[in-house]
Amino acid sequence: YAETPLVVRGLRKAYADGFVAVEEISFSVQRGQVVGLLGPNGAGKTTTLRVLMGLTMPTSGDALVFGHRLMPGAPILSRVGALVEGPGFLPHLSGLENLKAYWRATGRPEADAHFDDALEIAGLGDSVHRKTKKYSHGMRQRLAIAQAMLGLPELLVLDEPTDGLDPPQIAEMRRVLKRYATDGRAVLVSSHLLAEVEQTCTHAVVVNKGRIVASGPVEDIVGESPSVQIEVSDV
Ligand code: ATP
Repeated sequence: YAETPLVVRGLRKAYADGFVAVEEISFSVQRGQVVGLLGPNGAGKTTTLRVLMGLTMPTSGDALVFGHRLMPGAPILSRVGALVEGPGFLPHLSGLENLKAYWRATGRPEADAHFDDALEIAGLGDSVHRKTKKYSHGMRQRLAIAQAMLGLPELLVLDEPTDGLDPPQIAEMRRVLKRYATDGRAVLVSSHLLAEVEQTCTHAVVVNKGRIVASGPVEDIVGESPSVQIEVSDV
């Protein structure tokens, strides 16, 4: 699995109160793919992403990123960018200063950050020089996405990245993610919107109540499976 961006095998997560949020989740993300993790609220998407980013331990099963389990300090971390938990930005620094501070904390060379590419992708324009306390929710969201893209990681993991964006920004995000995956990079993105996954992703993994109900190329998933339509439409 060393060259596969992500392999998830038999993931199960039971929380301390005994609630099983994720059960028997297995899928992979290959280079060039934009994979949508699709399901209604509470389906287990965030839990799955938190496990694979090493933010919480699975009860059983595992998630391998380029053949490695992610954990704090793992060398493989530099090959992954993530927006899983909303990052807190320093309110009195500009967007760009926040990204620079974040990057400095990673200890990696400034030239590796590709600030210009990440900011262009995020489409923040001149507002990167404004203090983040003046940012709207949508601007914060775009700055967070730019932060996840710093270093142009080979695997990008985004939890509901279009949350808080307006329709033109959502359309732009689609273009961004498709473009992002074309250089052999890979994207995993969660969403509760069938239409969004249909328009953005090459593949979909549909989850409901912690289990996979369908997965495969997006054209096989959308429209052809009435059960999927029913499962995800009640959000
Ligand atoms: P959302 O879009 O609302 O975030 P989701 O698909 O990402 O939904 P999760 O956040 O993974 O779903 O939550 C799955 C289930 O696990 C939910 O029913 C939630 O209440 C439960 N859950 C999440 N965190 C915990 C926790 N720490 N302890 C107990 N149950 C939890």
